[in-house]
Amino acid sequence: MNNRQLFLSHLAQTTDFPLMIEIEKAEGIYMFGPDGKKYIDLISGIGVSNVGHRHPKVLTAIQEQLDKYLHLMVYGEYVQSPQALLAKALCDTLPKHLDNVYLVNSGSEAVEGALKLAKRYTNRRDIISCVDAYHGSSQGALSVGGNEIFKRAYRPLLPGVKNIVYGSFFQLDQITTDTAAVIIETIQGEAGIKVACSNYFQALRKRCDETGTLLILDEIQAGFGRTGKFWAFEHFGIEPDILVCAKGMGGGMPIGAFIANKEVMGVFKNNPLLGHITTFGGHPVSAAASLATIQIIKDEGLLESVESKAEIFKKLLVHPKIKGVRNMGLMMAVEFDSFDVLKPIIDKAIEMGVITDWFLFCDDAMRIAPPLIITESQIREACEIILKAIDEV
Ligand code: PMP
Repeated sequence: MNNRQLFLSHLAQTTDFPLMIEIEKAEGIYMFGPDGKKYIDLISGIGVSNVGHRHPKVLTAIQEQLDKYLHLMVYGEYVQSPQALLAKALCDTLPKHLDNVYLVNSGSEAVEGALKLAKRYTNRRDIISCVDAYHGSSQGALSVGGNEIFKRAYRPLLPGVKNIVYGSFFQLDQITTDTAAVIIETIQGEAGIKVACSNYFQALRKRCDETGTLLILDEIQAGFGRTGKFWAFEHFGIEPDILVCAKGMGGGMPIGAFIANKEVMGVFKNNPLLGHITTFGGHPVSAAASLATIQIIKDEGLLESVESKAEIFKKLLVHPKIKGVRNMGLMMAVEFDSFDVLKPIIDKAIEMGVITDWFLFCDDAMRIAPPLIITESQIREACEIILKAIDEV
């Protein structure tokens, strides 16, 4: 059997429409198939490869850590320098009060930790989240997700979860003194890139303050430079009580975090009520890669060009079949009439060497989230191919 046949017969499938692209090697914004076919990657593994594939400094950091040690002990016991240095580097990107980092392996795990932390700190049970939110596939993260189709088969899920409409002011009164936390994607990703306004976030922050509710911002997809600021919340003049991140954090390695202040996070330390434990969280190799990733974003000035690159995409992606483009920096959704119109275009573009896809809860929009290192000429090349693909189907 060849690799494609093995993929279909022995790997658990997650969708009726796997992209099925076989990749042998990746470098920068490019991926290469076994036959040498070259692809431009416009989705970065969904906001993961923000600094590009196999960034040399990420590879060096990984190699240096490989020469020292891999896993030593469950998280939080031994002093492992990649973890300690990463925690400090993360805090340096954040407002002063967010000074305590809990390292995990993934986005879902970061969400789980944040929800447990909020319940434990507030001694409250109820959680508010948003319609069409995606926070992960584990049962806690799924419980605060906002898509009933995804949740239906797994009930009963966490009790006490209520969905409000992202960006809607008048539902903020659902947040009460019984609410442990509001969890919200700063930019809704899988809903197809929805961006609320600053006034909304400020009203949300105020309501949380008034009710003693913790505000959890999920920047798993929007963080690490994707929107042109290191953190997307910087666009809106608010600060979270707990921030969750993953994806772009590891420069291609698996790692995530939930971040709060020392007092809030301190409740996990209090025995005998067991806090929160992870064997592999903050794996030293991933932590070293993440530390390098933060440095690359700073050294290469990646944030500064995000907005102008997004503008180039928007200027070029004009076609009668394109209904519009929603975006916050390089987190973009190109709207079409329907999935039936979009799917053949995506297939054609892949055949022509440009990889895009669609969104979990929005299948009539094309996802564009390239590595932030993409150049103007590479954007032009990619957009030309997309427009040609639209014309050819
Ligand atoms: N939150 C958001 C906003 C996400 O986009 C994702 C992943 N698509 C997750 C949480 C879950 O992250 P993971 O797949 O690493 O568990």
